[in-house]
Amino acid sequence: MNIILIAPPSAGKGTYAKEIKNKYKIPHISTGELLRKVAKREDEIGEYVQETLSHGEFVKDEIVYEILEKRLSEEDCKNGYILDGFPRKLEQAIRYDELLEEKHNHLGTVLLIEVEKDLLVKRVTGRRVCSDCGAIYNINIPASLPKEDLICDNCSGKIIQRSDDNVEAFEYRYKTYLEKTKPLIEYYKSKGCLYTIDGNGDKEVVMKRIEEVLTKE
Ligand code: ADP
Repeated sequence: MNIILIAPPSAGKGTYAKEIKNKYKIPHISTGELLRKVAKREDEIGEYVQETLSHGEFVKDEIVYEILEKRLSEEDCKNGYILDGFPRKLEQAIRYDELLEEKHNHLGTVLLIEVEKDLLVKRVTGRRVCSDCGAIYNINIPASLPKEDLICDNCSGKIIQRSDDNVEAFEYRYKTYLEKTKPLIEYYKSKGCLYTIDGNGDKEVVMKRIEEVLTKE
């Protein structure tokens, strides 16, 4: 079972990916999370990634390919995985097709989660993440608050706000999504593997819609 999630910034990709991971027992591979780890490194690449992420810009392809290919070659990816944040542009989709061919693997299901822009802005300013395990919270959504202020329910790690979760960086990421990521929709539609999910609504409702598609596949 291979799954690709495509959605505008802050649509909930990470949240749904974590739910799919638990339900279908396949690893969740978030290029955003992998890059946030690289950004903590105190070397030149770490500094470059940290700077790039905080502006909401795409990280250079070579760096993304290197961390992704390394992760996909790990043992737990053998029976499938959820890709969250990759591919993000046409060149990356083409590169990924080549990689699948090399590995004799298949594309699987592509889920497009659509959410109204107004709702995305509301979510992005409220989003908080655990700096240790990546768990996602939202201070604007009562059901998504941590039990204790600033402490992760899962691992007791420190809950922080991502450097790119502000209105300015969001606007840049959203514009980039429209320009670079949206063309992937036609690309995957023509391959017959794209399913569109209405991502407006509560997490549970959207998750049901996702499950309906995945059980049919
Ligand atoms: P969101 O879910 O809000 O879109 P992500 O955690 O997926 O955020 O990604 C955060 C940031 O990481 C992106 O804005 C971008 O800077 C970088 N990033 C993630 N995936 C890629 C990728 N495939 N190519 C280039 N940059 C990426």
